[in-house]
Amino acid sequence: MMNLETYNRIKKELGSEVGLIAVSKGQTGEKILSLYNQGHRDFGENFLQELVEKKNQLPDDIRWHFLGNIQSNKLPKIIESSYIIHSISRQKIYEILINAETNISTKILLQLKLGSEKTKGGFSENEIINIVKNHDRNSNVSIKGIMVISENNIDNVTRKQQFSQAKKLFEKIKKINNEIEILSMGMSNDYQVAISCDSNMVRLGTVIFGKRK
Ligand SMILES: *Cc1c(COP(=O)(O)O)cnc(C)c1O
Repeated sequence: MMNLETYNRIKKELGSEVGLIAVSKGQTGEKILSLYNQGHRDFGENFLQELVEKKNQLPDDIRWHFLGNIQSNKLPKIIESSYIIHSISRQKIYEILINAETNISTKILLQLKLGSEKTKGGFSENEIINIVKNHDRNSNVSIKGIMVISENNIDNVTRKQQFSQAKKLFEKIKKINNEIEILSMGMSNDYQVAISCDSNMVRLGTVIFGKRK
């Protein structure tokens, strides 16, 4: 059973300024529906197949946020199925996206790489600034902001420094492109630190739904 108490407490904690993506990967449709029935509409998934299966079974007005690794051959289907793609983390994928022959308008976030962890993907700050500067505002692709995943083995002081750095970058690119409005930063373990650094969208899975399958 879903514990709605935690959901309601966190909603209150976040207030109206911070958006909440309920990360439903590895969670049942039943749990998703119980949040849906509370009025929640934004859910996050990492795997295309799982997203499509859930999308086919669940209400049409759910906004699905894609958070996972992107393989180029799956991109058309990801575009078609997602409200916002948070995990654009490679130049090649960005280029395929802007050259895609589709009339569907696509909202994306550019994933920022923090620190030096080799396993995490993402762009450097300079790469993000360059993409934003050169982005064709008439394209079907709209850059709405940046997405940040914090490193695993760092202390909260370092984490706070890195999140603050992300916030600075966010302010910088907002001045270049006024469509930019989303700083997607904070997961179950670090969302409070992220909010203290002005994140305006958190992506919470286990803290809301419990352990994943
Ligand atoms: C899985 C995932 C989350 C949610 O993680 P929790 O620790 O369960 O809150 C958030 N963002 C991304 C990119 C994820 O892959």
